Amino acid sequence: MKRLLLIGAGHAHAQVLKDWAATPLPGVEVTVVSPAPLAPYSGMVPGWLAGTYRYEQCCIDFAVLARAAGARFVAGEVVALDAIRRTVALADGGVLGYELLSLNIGSTLRPPAIDGPLLLPLRPLARLRAAYETLLERLADDARPLSLTTVGGGAAGVEATLAVLARLRARRPGRALAARLVTRGNTLLPGMARGAARRAQAALERAGVRVQCGVAFDATAAAGDDLLLWATGAVAHPWPATSALACSDDGFVRVDPFLRSPSHPEVHAVGDCAAWAEPLPKAGVYAVRMGPLLSHNLRAALGHTTARAYVPQHRYLALLATADARAIAAWGPWSAEGAWAWRWKDRIDRGFIARFAPPALPAGDERT
Ligand SMILES: Cc1cc2nc3c(=O)[nH]c(=O)nc-3n(C[C@H](O)[C@H](O)[C@H](O)COP(=O)(O)OP(=O)(O)OC[C@H]3O[C@@H](n4cnc5c(N)ncnc54)[C@H](O)[C@@H]3O)c2cc1C
Repeated sequence: MKRLLLIGAGHAHAQVLKDWAATPLPGVEVTVVSPAPLAPYSGMVPGWLAGTYRYEQCCIDFAVLARAAGARFVAGEVVALDAIRRTVALADGGVLGYELLSLNIGSTLRPPAIDGPLLLPLRPLARLRAAYETLLERLADDARPLSLTTVGGGAAGVEATLAVLARLRARRPGRALAARLVTRGNTLLPGMARGAARRAQAALERAGVRVQCGVAFDATAAAGDDLLLWATGAVAHPWPATSALACSDDGFVRVDPFLRSPSHPEVHAVGDCAAWAEPLPKAGVYAVRMGPLLSHNLRAALGHTTARAYVPQHRYLALLATADARAIAAWGPWSAEGAWAWRWKDRIDRGFIARFAPPALPAGDERT
């Protein structure tokens, strides 16, 4: 019996489990490890921050998926990987071995330790729920004026700022809110259409946010704020870089065209945690696209088919929610916005998450 270990309840592993539930492989023991069974789908996170969706509506339940795939779900956090002995260590002291390993652990952030404002780091997504609930509990309902700074001008910074402001305003209409977004970059949404950046700037300004491009974060200036949203570029989780796996200089796991580690071919890595030959944007769409290929290549690694190469797309459709029942759409140099774009985004995201919902019980079989 070969042991296949999937670490992280990421977007690609969800698809692996779904595929393996439909077409199981005999002779393989599959284990999935992630801190919690509910894994948020990034596309819907801004909608949840804004209060449009409940948290559970944006999540894939990996315990249910694992069960359907005949896999074991372990609620735990990996803290070390020994790529030579082929074992991983969990935070609770447990150790798991493998013959085949796949990493889909996303990325994280390294926000500064700062006295004063309440800090909301937007990654890792799994920790966002508790941090946001604390924020709403502490800040949402009192009437005093609030000041907020966002650091980071990418899609996450823009969407999260608009979403959090919309949520705070809905909870306490008329409350004074002073907000600014600072980014070291010369423009918002680097790498996206220029028109999308202009539209994002206009949406932020309509929401009362002062946008400061080409400005570095200054802890002294932020010390007087009530809230600091941290949305800078993705940072690698620290433990793969100390595991003997080949990693990029910034600690992401190097992969070959088959999504395998060039130093340890029994290890695959996908999504944000993988370092492709030319750096890819740290966007969920890549993790989603890698999912079916990863599933295929894991079967190939178990000797059941031939591995296929991943060909990254050069452009992807970005749909950014502006928390006013509208969204900005960007694809290559093209951009547009409107209520239609929000309805489009909502339909795509709900459609994606619905693929992983447990099957409805037959009528008359509703258990409590
Ligand atoms: C607010 C916000 C909005 C975004 N919106 C979009 C969007 O609209 N479109 C888009 O393309 N991208 C978006 N992104 C980017 C997107 O979140 C990431 O690129 C995407 O989530 C990466 O997917 P993934 O599958 O690699 O990892 P993730 O979805 O982050 O999943 C990683 C999984 O690994 C688990 N894990 C982490 N560490 C460990 C460990 N040590 N042990 C065990 N398990 C572990 C985590 O709990 C999690 O389940 C957004 C990001 C943010 C912050």
